Amino acid sequence: MSEQAADTAVLVEERSFPPSPEFAAAANGTQDLFDRAGEDRLAFWAEQARRYVKWDKDFEEVLDWSDAPFAKWFVGGKLNACYNAVDRHVEAGIGDRVAFHFVGEPGDHEAVTYADMHVRVQRAANALIDLGLRAGDTVAIYMPNTPDAVAAMLACARIGAPHSVVFGGFSAEALRTRIDDVGAKLVITGDGLYRKGAPYALKPVVDEALASGETTVENVLVVQRTKQEIGWVEGRDHWWHEALEAADPTHEPEAFDSEHPLYILYTSGTTGKPKGILHTTGGYLTQAAFTNHVVHDIHPETDVYWCTADIGWVTGHSYTVYGPMTLGATQVIYEGTPDQPHKGRFWEIVQEHKVTILYTAPTAIRTFMKWGRDIPEQFDLSSLRLLGSVGEPINPEAWIWYRDVIGGGQTPVVDTWWQTETGAIMITPIPGVTAARPGSAQHPIPGVSALVVDDEGRPVERGSAGYLVVTEPWPSMLRGIWGDPQRFKDGYWSRFPGIYFAGDGARLDEDGNIWISGRIDDVMNVSGHRLSTAEVESALVSHAKVAEAAVVAASDEVTGQAICAFVILRQDAVEEADEVGEGAELVAELRNHVAHEIGSIAKPKKIMVVAELPKTRSGKIMRRLLRDVAEHRELGDVTTLADASVMNLISAGIASGK
Ligand code: ATP
Ligand code: MG
Repeated sequence: MSEQAADTAVLVEERSFPPSPEFAAAANGTQDLFDRAGEDRLAFWAEQARRYVKWDKDFEEVLDWSDAPFAKWFVGGKLNACYNAVDRHVEAGIGDRVAFHFVGEPGDHEAVTYADMHVRVQRAANALIDLGLRAGDTVAIYMPNTPDAVAAMLACARIGAPHSVVFGGFSAEALRTRIDDVGAKLVITGDGLYRKGAPYALKPVVDEALASGETTVENVLVVQRTKQEIGWVEGRDHWWHEALEAADPTHEPEAFDSEHPLYILYTSGTTGKPKGILHTTGGYLTQAAFTNHVVHDIHPETDVYWCTADIGWVTGHSYTVYGPMTLGATQVIYEGTPDQPHKGRFWEIVQEHKVTILYTAPTAIRTFMKWGRDIPEQFDLSSLRLLGSVGEPINPEAWIWYRDVIGGGQTPVVDTWWQTETGAIMITPIPGVTAARPGSAQHPIPGVSALVVDDEGRPVERGSAGYLVVTEPWPSMLRGIWGDPQRFKDGYWSRFPGIYFAGDGARLDEDGNIWISGRIDDVMNVSGHRLSTAEVESALVSHAKVAEAAVVAASDEVTGQAICAFVILRQDAVEEADEVGEGAELVAELRNHVAHEIGSIAKPKKIMVVAELPKTRSGKIMRRLLRDVAEHRELGDVTTLADASVMNLISAGIASGK
């Protein structure tokens, strides 16, 4: 990357938000953690492993990296992940603490205590054993976002059967591919779930997935949720509630090796075919619990924490199931969408359950911006004391909006960078320590070594951009891609030998903060200048009329690549505009705004106002599809797209020249 490009591509954001003295004084995360990790990284992680996790047998070695890139952490240690998430809290006498305030989309509530969970996971573990499951067998979970889904995951962990959770919104085809890839013996599903104001069938999708050809699946367990009519295969299908009732109520958890596989989870598919990421037990649990404690600052006795991610994503795995439950936290778990039955649903839940910590995604925050601040302003959000963001770069404007409108201008906001592959948070501000910079994930957590490097793998100077890498193994790192060790080596460890290549671009600012600029695939080359999509998008979103933007580069005979922008307007701007999709004046205004914010080199050649953007089911913008459209190509893999009709609308708009 040329120096000049690095300079022109900087969108300066210098506002800084140090924690209040009161927040810092009570915070779990302290400067001391950085100091100790700096002195002796492995001793630091050993300390965290013994602090956060209960081991049946202590480990003998912290890290075995002799078979790199296949790591072994906490070698010789034995533990049970389900025991750590449930039994230990009951044994410690806090069984009557609420683990989950479940909120169903239609408005039903259930408070589930740790003692309730204890009953549920023991019976479920026995039910799985009754169906012939043994340690090492794999289980596919395709369920609504409810405490039963959590219990299903933990029951698998309890008997040592790795789970593979598939988001309950994927098609039969996507489900089948994932079932086949892990060779699941059992599927745990629901009759249906509530989403977007209506019951949505799950079981028929499972039936369809299993109907095509030979399958490894022997049994299907069905949780009753919507009570809708469903098909039934005698002998194969069993009701969850009946199986649990018939099962023995007590189950002694078995201690598994620290490296026993805990789960396989497929990546979001933002860039292409999803990868089956393998996580194991001891290291994963350690880093999930540690980060949840110091980054989300959970105080389990007093906080009500809500991670809005579905358990079908890694965020739900690490920050609804394994992290918070290992800490003994009280959480909210919500089944449905943010606009049911009204656009204030999230804020109503925060108000009702006095949520203190909220962890959500930029896509949700930008949607709330689009809907307007008057909606959250109708609710009492004063219980909130910390906000978090994950999944995509958060534009500085969205960050500020989040803190001001949702956090009352008071709360720290933690922008957490990590991946399905990393298993837990890697780069983030520590809320009681770091003075936050809107839009930057800032620094690696204590014990993690992440850098921005150039093409040769050398650390870049401050003020320059490059590739994000992790230079030392970390406890919750992936242990491979299921069934494909070569893809693991090629994809992550060959670009810079011996170093983990995350696939994301990043910039190091003058103060040493890391700014993640998005995927390498999304870097644009315009007239010899390298620009990141994230920077141009942030410039667009900083305009008062824009709620969300996606930017891609399309081949252009003159400039090499030309910037095409797709923008969604804020609600009030839509109402003002006579006709969405036209508005030459607005387009000119936006182009000039980008030129003013970044430089004329970043001026989009084309700007299209759209109603929706193509997103993965986890809510991430799929720029590669927009690139296909902009270059008039056939669309690539769309199986992970949330709503395929969005692409038709956009293609039609392009064709009509709008
Ligand atoms: P696939 O790998 O299949 O294309 P994916 O990368 O979207 O899908 P995930 O593991 O869910 O799958 O997402 C991790 C990616 O999300 C990161 O590599 C990064 O691009 C983006 N990301 C996550 N958190 C942040 C953040 N705080 N800031 C910037 N980007 C983030
Ligand atoms: Mg990825």
